[in-house]
Amino acid sequence: FQRLKSGLGKTSSKLTSGITDLFSKRKLDANTLDDLEDLLIQSDLGLETTSRITDAIGKGRFEKGISADEVRSVLATEVERVLTPVAKPLVIEPSHKPHVIMMVGVNGTGKTTTIGKLANKFKSEGKSVVLAAGDTFRAAAIDQLKVWGERAGVPVVAREVGGDSSGLAFDALKQAQATGADVLLLDTAGRLQNKQVLMEELEKVTRVLKKLDPSAPHDVVLVLDATTGQNALNQVEVFRDRAGVTGLIMTKLDGTARGGILVAIAAKFGLPVHAIGVGEGADDLQAFSAADFARAIAG
Ligand code: GDP
Repeated sequence: FQRLKSGLGKTSSKLTSGITDLFSKRKLDANTLDDLEDLLIQSDLGLETTSRITDAIGKGRFEKGISADEVRSVLATEVERVLTPVAKPLVIEPSHKPHVIMMVGVNGTGKTTTIGKLANKFKSEGKSVVLAAGDTFRAAAIDQLKVWGERAGVPVVAREVGGDSSGLAFDALKQAQATGADVLLLDTAGRLQNKQVLMEELEKVTRVLKKLDPSAPHDVVLVLDATTGQNALNQVEVFRDRAGVTGLIMTKLDGTARGGILVAIAAKFGLPVHAIGVGEGADDLQAFSAADFARAIAG
């Protein structure tokens, strides 16, 4: 929890110092509620959650007087309420041989790093893992995945740059099936310059996987970068509609004041949130806990 709390420090200090300023330094009046509303919106929590919080505090309580601590406690309660239904770990189904996890997302969001972290996690749980370097357009992504694979001691299926990503996905699943692997983690491209082409490519990868296992991919995990704030909302919409996203991982929650965006996304889409990234290292992927996240951002 301490790790999460310090990771979310910027998001939390923006909210908590804002609340302290509003509720300790002057008499409360109708403007205070408006200012609180502004603060919550600027913290990327989203309109829906913002209204819930201001409604829960209510005008009546203002007149009686409410302390900054009480406001923070309402914030924590409401955030937890939004996040609880979406907090769901990635579950590797043993009857899937392998359980295929397709990782999607815009370049730079932390997809490759997250695959590396997941590979470590599953390996340390005793599962056999195969990685597939499906972002065949970027040499750096392929190399980076190989480094993570070596570090975790798991095989990486890769081809040369420019190869066909669905062909690579096919080979990787075939190899994972042949070796009886438990998990296949498939990296994919994330060039957003041409959305149409990218989405068609992801659809093709899915079709090709189904030739070998009609139930694959078992998870399509969208990786989102918390520092992009409101842009992340658009990304969820595009990838959900076109790539069949089944769950989310949000990265880079450390070092941004925009962590509230996770709450807005949960309220708007209701997609499972599997884990969060709070740093660049192999251990910096945390299982997502609604209560811990709420407590961490409410200070
Ligand atoms: P990709 O293009 O989506 O595959 O993104 P990468 O995995 O290459 O990550 C882009 C950059 O973000 C790299 O420098 C990563 O080390 C960094 N990164 C990824 N996840 C996190 C995270 O949770 N926290 C921080 N601080 N950096 C991260």
